[in-house]
Amino acid sequence: MKRIVSGNQALAYGALAAGVDLVAGYPGTPSTEALTEIIRFSSENENAPWVEWSTNEKVAFDVATGAAWSGKRALATMKMSGLNVALDSVMSVAYSGTTGGFVLYVADDPGAEAGMPEQDSRLCADLAGLPMLEPGNVLETYELTQKAFELSEKVGAPVLLRLVTSVSHGEAELEADFAYHLRETTPYHNRDITRYTKAGSKICVDQHADLLKRLDSCEEIYESSSWNRFEILSGAALCVVSSGVMNEYVGELLPAYSHVSSVRLTATWPVEKKRFLPLLRDHESLLILEELEPVLEKALRSQAQAEGLPVKILGKMDGTLPRTGRYGLKDIRSALAAASGTGDAGPAPASATAYRHTITFCSGCPHRGTYMALNRAIKKAGFKKKDVLVTGDIGCTILGMNGPFDSCWTEVSMGSSIGLAQGFARSGFDTPVVATIGDSTFFHAGLPPLINAVQQRADILVIILDNGWTSMTGFQVNPGTEESLQPGGRRRVSMDALIQAVGVDYFEVIKPFDQDAAVEALAGALRMKGVRVLVSREECALTRERRKSFGPGYSIDQEKCTFCKMCLRESGCTALSPVQYGEKTVMSIDPDLCRSCGLCFTCCKFGAISREG
Ligand code: SF4
Ligand code: SF4
Repeated sequence: MKRIVSGNQALAYGALAAGVDLVAGYPGTPSTEALTEIIRFSSENENAPWVEWSTNEKVAFDVATGAAWSGKRALATMKMSGLNVALDSVMSVAYSGTTGGFVLYVADDPGAEAGMPEQDSRLCADLAGLPMLEPGNVLETYELTQKAFELSEKVGAPVLLRLVTSVSHGEAELEADFAYHLRETTPYHNRDITRYTKAGSKICVDQHADLLKRLDSCEEIYESSSWNRFEILSGAALCVVSSGVMNEYVGELLPAYSHVSSVRLTATWPVEKKRFLPLLRDHESLLILEELEPVLEKALRSQAQAEGLPVKILGKMDGTLPRTGRYGLKDIRSALAAASGTGDAGPAPASATAYRHTITFCSGCPHRGTYMALNRAIKKAGFKKKDVLVTGDIGCTILGMNGPFDSCWTEVSMGSSIGLAQGFARSGFDTPVVATIGDSTFFHAGLPPLINAVQQRADILVIILDNGWTSMTGFQVNPGTEESLQPGGRRRVSMDALIQAVGVDYFEVIKPFDQDAAVEALAGALRMKGVRVLVSREECALTRERRKSFGPGYSIDQEKCTFCKMCLRESGCTALSPVQYGEKTVMSIDPDLCRSCGLCFTCCKFGAISREG
């Protein structure tokens, strides 16, 4: 059967073909659709693995570890920022090793299309001593996912399977059976504290030695596989070494160059030192093509130096290629021209930084109402907006940093808004410090800093913008999603009970579309002292729309509209736009975009906006 699939979907079907027993992850672009596809498959097929969106990436990794340590095949999925959350466990498990096949899928984002740091997770393979495979395209992803489980079982180590955005979101026609190949295995776990605990220095040092042995055995496995393609031409002066998605560009461009050797790597960590040695000895120069950090380049420079070989190494460290951004054909062409001496490549091309338009909330988004109410409340409580510091967090809620709200001042990592706010508040500002955070982010990493705030008697206002879903990454469920909407009879966890159980000084639930009451509550909370938590609760407009219509929308009486623009200035709703009405310009509402939230209605002093019907 043939089907057009993305890299993420190919990874999902590769895992199903490998008979993965358990899949756990946390959504994060560009990795999300791998797990989403397995959820979709599971909802349509009785014969399917256990699959879950866990509370955060560390929980997902721990759940997967339990399965892998029972001899089962397990897959944990996350984006690079999530790897940081899971890293505490990843490091520990890397030293312990695994019995069942354990694949850790991490998606990196060169070019930072989804925001967040341009982190290179390959460094984690070095840090944690994990074998790593890097498919260069969608079809390789399907194959290598299966190989990753086999490799993990062979060497007894979790395997890092790393994709980048252009592969995870790329598409290709895949020929496969798209089926789940269940393996009948009996769970087992032999009690062995020397392997599964860190209780004692001897245990830890021995585990370190085991980890190094596992890496050595990986090199032997790579050597006997066809994963890394060494095409060495006798007498060639230049060898191009590429990895992952760079292999595709080399495949396209290298035929134009005569007598150039090439090495295309997909099993990228550990580096195959034995096979690289003659290559370093027999070429005058090596051009290393890899996005982000010079991981491979450093390894080969270090090997050449250790062997006393004079080979010239071109890459990022000598400025042949930029260290930031996603590479395109132009970057590779330019580097090849410079390395082969076939043309004036000119200076290293700067990585493209596309102009980004300001992005805002969808029309009808409840977060718009929360930030509108916050701005109004700051004024009502007698403060100036420029004096009220608002920390933001990851997810849709951070869009409050953009106009017309201009609310959030910072964005660091999942859950950090609440900790940051405590640090700001302790610094002596005499105006309120506010933290804003979404519901999924709160469950993910917001609870520990809230507990800290209570214990330390912090003076902060926390606003949890609870839309019931993990919307930014594609509307995944989270622990707070309505119970009737949880998949397979899973339960809802009460955010309100959790917050109150922690012992905050003040707690209230507000409705963002009831502006008068929301402003009143927020203004009151701004004036209070202690740990105040307001949950602003209204379902995500897009998930709600899938189940029920919003009913009649709002419209503008263009005779009454004075074009004061207050509706647009305060709400920034994307359904609002200026139009020509006879001789004058007036505001109008696009009926296809209006989701009847009524926020613009609260802005108009001229009675021009009303609900239809
Ligand atoms: S607030 Fe009212 S009067 Fe002003 S532009 Fe909007 S619809 Fe027109
Ligand atoms: S009611 Fe107004 S603010 Fe709400 S979606 Fe419609 S146009 Fe936008």
